[in-house]
Amino acid sequence: MNVIEIRPRGFCPGVYHAIQLVEEAINNPQVRRPITILGMIVHNRHVVDDLARKGVVTLDDPTKTRQELADQIQDGTVIITAHGILPEVISSLQKRGIDVIDASCRDVLRTQQLVKQKLEEGFDVLYLGKEGHPEAESVVLLSDKVHLISSETDLNSLSIKNHNLFVTNQTTFSIRDLASLRSAISIKYPKSVFSDEICDATRMRQEALIKYNQGVDLCLIVGDPRSNNSKNLVKISEQETHTLTYLVGSVEDLKPSMFEGVQTVSVSSGASTPNYLTQSVIDYCRNLN
Ligand code: SF4
Repeated sequence: MNVIEIRPRGFCPGVYHAIQLVEEAINNPQVRRPITILGMIVHNRHVVDDLARKGVVTLDDPTKTRQELADQIQDGTVIITAHGILPEVISSLQKRGIDVIDASCRDVLRTQQLVKQKLEEGFDVLYLGKEGHPEAESVVLLSDKVHLISSETDLNSLSIKNHNLFVTNQTTFSIRDLASLRSAISIKYPKSVFSDEICDATRMRQEALIKYNQGVDLCLIVGDPRSNNSKNLVKISEQETHTLTYLVGSVEDLKPSMFEGVQTVSVSSGASTPNYLTQSVIDYCRNLN
């Protein structure tokens, strides 16, 4: 069986940076304990379990906002994930004497800053993102003039009087969904001003998948079911390259029956997937030969 290892794949610069800050905190005895990560450092169970073994607490509940989670923390040091956060949450922690290490990705911060600027200029903002995702939360809660759009249904039910509309998006949005939502917005609000904020890491992973996934019989995306960018890779593989595609958490999810009649398999992974997980899936496929 031919195995195509799609690159780039796996951890992005923002995730590397965040994990490096966590490791530095673990190894620095002067960092006050307990060390708590506000939400999952990356949406990957293996990474979170590994940090738990090193004594780091991950405080996560998808039904709660970051502020509600932060209010549960009494002392020690809090690490903010690469997904970013409302600045008010950081201030509220610091006011209560809790140390904060901010691992927000600079690409996320740039989008947040851009939205703030446009709000100050009098725009309403249409933010294309995923409901409940921490990155989207850190932008949508900036103002009630930021409107979250996750689908055309959301757009259809929207009614805005302000003629100054600024449209931007979550950094990990799908290039395909972005294109179709932007064209729908252009029809409904023709004077909208657009800024595409998909980050380079996300774009390069999605474009590489489209480029190298041609003619394969099966595509495996290694990623966690909660990883937005991994799920977007699955959608792109299915919809843009019409390839049978599975999202697999690790090699343990693979079964020989998945490969019946498969001559060529491609493998990629989301920006939150450690390389060792992807490599073990690649090794499994090669060993099937
Ligand atoms: S996916 Fe992009 S925005 Fe998100 S952490 Fe990685 S580099 Fe930053």
